Amino acid sequence: MKLIFEKSVAGRHCDVLGKCDVDYAPLPEEFCRESKPLLPEMSEVDVSRHYTELNHRVHGVNCGFYPLGSCTMKYNPRVDEDIAGLKGFAGIHPLAPADTVKGCREVIDTAGKYLCEISGMDAMTFQPAAGAHGEFTGVLLIKQYHDKRGDTARTKIIVPDSAHGTNPATAAMCGYKVVNIPSAPNGCVDLDALRAVLGPDTAGLMLTNPNTVGIFDENILEITRLVHEAGGLCYYDGANLNAIMGVVRPGDMGFDCIHMNLHKTFATPHGGGGPGAGAVGCKAFLKEFLPASALMDGAKDRIQIRSFAGNFLVLVRALTYITTLGKEGIPEASQNAVLNANYLMRQIEGTFDLAYDRICMHEFVLDVASYKKETGLSALDVAKSLIDYGMHPPTMYFPLIVHEALMLEPTETETKETLDWTADVFRAVYERGKVDPEYIHGSPHCAQIKRPDEVMASRNPVVRWTPQE
Ligand SMILES: *Cc1c(COP(=O)(O)O)cnc(C)c1O
Repeated sequence: MKLIFEKSVAGRHCDVLGKCDVDYAPLPEEFCRESKPLLPEMSEVDVSRHYTELNHRVHGVNCGFYPLGSCTMKYNPRVDEDIAGLKGFAGIHPLAPADTVKGCREVIDTAGKYLCEISGMDAMTFQPAAGAHGEFTGVLLIKQYHDKRGDTARTKIIVPDSAHGTNPATAAMCGYKVVNIPSAPNGCVDLDALRAVLGPDTAGLMLTNPNTVGIFDENILEITRLVHEAGGLCYYDGANLNAIMGVVRPGDMGFDCIHMNLHKTFATPHGGGGPGAGAVGCKAFLKEFLPASALMDGAKDRIQIRSFAGNFLVLVRALTYITTLGKEGIPEASQNAVLNANYLMRQIEGTFDLAYDRICMHEFVLDVASYKKETGLSALDVAKSLIDYGMHPPTMYFPLIVHEALMLEPTETETKETLDWTADVFRAVYERGKVDPEYIHGSPHCAQIKRPDEVMASRNPVVRWTPQE
């Protein structure tokens, strides 16, 4: 496909406005550029076709199934968009006088109250713009807490080997030494391994529960008790709350602070890089360390994470989502997410191996290792061939503790028909690979881009077009 600049024809344009009937008022010389900007020159219909063609090349939740594990690619109800688009929300200025934006203040307060209720926390900030940004903010709460008490010997953060990559990165960014602990064979925290590393140098533990293999750690109360006993604090990576909303609360599991990705669980579309919101909640004793927002008194003594009130419209969507589902709908959404994952897991069973053969939460992991031994086909090959069926591949090679991992998270918004179709697709790929591995290895056969050099694509992406003279 040609770039819009390459389609440009000098002098072509779409005139929709009539001739100017007021006097020409040139800008002062010093504000003018030396040459005209290089803009594509096209007819209106060609501009329209160009963007429509681009649109057709993208796979989103509205095009088809998108079981990208850990990412919660659920369908977001349109009403959330409609409300976020209301002029009174979308049209406000962050510096508007407080008494003109009382409704927005109410959105922040109410969403904070509901999300505290859902997470079991006492206070919340909406400043962080993403999950990783929220983690950074949350671990800074832990750091400020220890610093204020003069407890400077606490230099280490414990992170299990199944953790999302952002956890160790966050701990390191906050100046901590990362201590990795291995998981038990069932994918959960190995209590002996945890005991072995706890001590007076422990600042805290970062954990996701259910963990990244989709299993709820039954020892969670003992885990948080051990960390507290050693003087550390417990951080809950709640990027994905889809399995537990309204069912169990991180605050009740013994966690002291948490971030939640409103753009995963709470109805903001994501996948293209933002805007998101990593709401950070904490227990009352950490509240004094929360970042300042422009709307807060005493802001000058606080850490500053982001300007103003964060990505406010993400918050409007979250509040709309929570209030439309209500107290009954919130746990029901989680229960359906767990039901869908277990149903799909059992439908796929008998083809690719399950990494953990037990009841899962909102996601589960397939292990393609034995299939690879038999056919030479890897998790990557299987993922690529799913594209030919119009499905987004699952998460690949994560968590790292399963070497040929495919991680599926169907979410609650998919129907039984879609899940049955998905199981059929997996079975078809599985069978075809056994008799015709070359075909699967050559997939995708129908996609625009087939097998890009993934290292080059991430290390050296070419995203800038340079005009040729
Ligand atoms: C998505 C995710 C993150 C990071 O969130 P971003 O908004 O992408 O920064 C962190 N932890 C877990 C478990 C996640 O699934």
